[in-house]
Amino acid sequence: MITSRIRKPLVWGGILVLLVLLCSLVTYRVSYRTGVESLRENGNRQLELHARGVESEIERYIWLPRVLGLHIPTRTLLEGDTPALRGSSDHFAPLRREVNEYLEGMNARSGTLALYVLDISGRVLAASNWRRIDSYVGEDLSTRPYFVEAMNGGQGQFYGLDSLSGEPGYYLSSPLRVGDRIIGVAVVKVKLAQLEHGWRKANSNALVTDENGVIILAAHPAWYLRAMQPISAERRQQLALSLQYHWALLPELSLAERVALSPGLEQWGVADEKNPLRVYRYLVQSRTLNDTRWKLTLLSPLGEVRAAALTHALLAAALAAFVTLLIIAMNERRKALATKLAAREALEAANSELERRITERTADLKASNDRLRAEIREREQAEQNLRQTQSELIQAGKLAVIGQMSTSIAHELNQPLAALRTLSGNTVKFLQRGKLDIASANLNTIAELVERMGKITASLRSFARRSEHAGGRARLAAAVDAALFLLHSRLSHEPVLVEQRFAEAELAIDQTRLEQILVNLLANAMDALQGQPDARIVLSGQRLEDSYRLAVSDNGSGLPEHVMKHLFEPFFTTKPAERGLGLGLTLSASLAAAAGGALSAGPSALGGAEFVLILPLCPEEDAAHV
Ligand code: ADP
Repeated sequence: MITSRIRKPLVWGGILVLLVLLCSLVTYRVSYRTGVESLRENGNRQLELHARGVESEIERYIWLPRVLGLHIPTRTLLEGDTPALRGSSDHFAPLRREVNEYLEGMNARSGTLALYVLDISGRVLAASNWRRIDSYVGEDLSTRPYFVEAMNGGQGQFYGLDSLSGEPGYYLSSPLRVGDRIIGVAVVKVKLAQLEHGWRKANSNALVTDENGVIILAAHPAWYLRAMQPISAERRQQLALSLQYHWALLPELSLAERVALSPGLEQWGVADEKNPLRVYRYLVQSRTLNDTRWKLTLLSPLGEVRAAALTHALLAAALAAFVTLLIIAMNERRKALATKLAAREALEAANSELERRITERTADLKASNDRLRAEIREREQAEQNLRQTQSELIQAGKLAVIGQMSTSIAHELNQPLAALRTLSGNTVKFLQRGKLDIASANLNTIAELVERMGKITASLRSFARRSEHAGGRARLAAAVDAALFLLHSRLSHEPVLVEQRFAEAELAIDQTRLEQILVNLLANAMDALQGQPDARIVLSGQRLEDSYRLAVSDNGSGLPEHVMKHLFEPFFTTKPAERGLGLGLTLSASLAAAAGGALSAGPSALGGAEFVLILPLCPEEDAAHV
């Protein structure tokens, strides 16, 4: 996954680079080829132009030697001025002067370098430069090729350096005839330097090589008199003797590279004179000049073509890169759009799915809400039922206690009743006997007994009274007294020592309820102490932070494990049916819990059981008011 994520751009990058390279390469080649082609065409035109220039320059003067043949004094001089005819006296001197002057004038008018005539032995008879000290007159030029050529009846054409001054010039010769007989040779020397000038001005690199392959005209001055091809030592010797190139050494033109492309077309590499490592390349075209054995060569620089090709290649590369990047970008954009579209569709789908789910959930929630509400109603109903049952149970528990105590209550009431009966009978008798003091004492005792019986029934009534609310205020000491009072008759029969080790406290519970809890706990303890010698019940109180801890301990039978397990379960009892219902502890615990307290059981330090009742204390301020 990761590698393909990395590989993909790499592949694209590679393709891009290859494409760009290929584009630039092809463009370079095409551009170079077209550049060379247009350079070649242009070169052809220039070559033609320059060749025409050279040819016309030569043709301009070719008639001049021939014209001299028509000049009578010249002919006369040539025919007459022979060594044999000349003799000792120089009567040809005036004629020679005339011819010299004619040649001088002609030379000046036609703008040539020199104009002269030779006799058939090759000696100069007259020359345009006859006045000068280095005049040709009298010079033997029989070895000069143009003379030999003309003597052979042809047109002599020759490029050479003046054997005396070393001045370069182009020699054109023509035989002068009388009938078929050659009487002499006329020569005109012209300079072609203006051609070089023209080339330089036109900024075209042209050169002319002669029949020996020596550069005789060159736009580039350093190339002048360089050999274009190797010259053998023998030939060099000959050339040196002929003084054609005066004393020039004719060094070979050294080229860094020379490649023949097609006939008349070459590629040259020319090393820079100052920096030989730098090579200038040229397209080289050459052609033979008409009526000569010379060759005109034109060098067109390839550097510009190369630079242009390079520029085109760079442009093509940039264009290719741009187009490729554009395509990639468009592709990416298309992909991004597709992804976006897909994402939007997915989002819409998810949205509708969500809406569907929300609707479902809402319905579910509504249903479960309804269920919950129904459950709450049921719970409330159940709670109410429970409360009802609880209060009924409390009542039942009280009545059960009263039932249990009924024997002792009956006994309690029977005693004063019996005493009342005896006392009232006695009192009647004492009244009849007139013993009023005894009768009144009896009546006092009767009144005391009645009051005591009233107290018993009042306490029973208040115990049996229904108390509907859990909260309230209870005085601990009063509640303990009331409980002990209710159990009074049992206590008077059973020898149990009740120790009270607690301070007075106000507890946040209904007085009757506290009494009921205490009656239950004390009655249970007394049940457990039955037949126990040295029976003891200890009530010990302790103030905690904001509650009160009352422990009811006995040294009775204690709580075995199986009893301990089910102690607070309703209807659990170990007592015979007429004495126990198994509701006392259940009710007491629920009364304590309803008041925000707790009831727990455990073994007592005295040896029996210990029941610990924890109830909240009444707030201090309120306690202060009571
Ligand atoms: P009942 O007194 O009607 O049996 P209770 O709920 O008051 O019902 O008591 C349940 C049982 O707990 C009793 O039957 C008795 O076995 C045991 N019990 C309660 N108090 C004590 C005690 N102080 N010592 C030993 N056993 C006790």
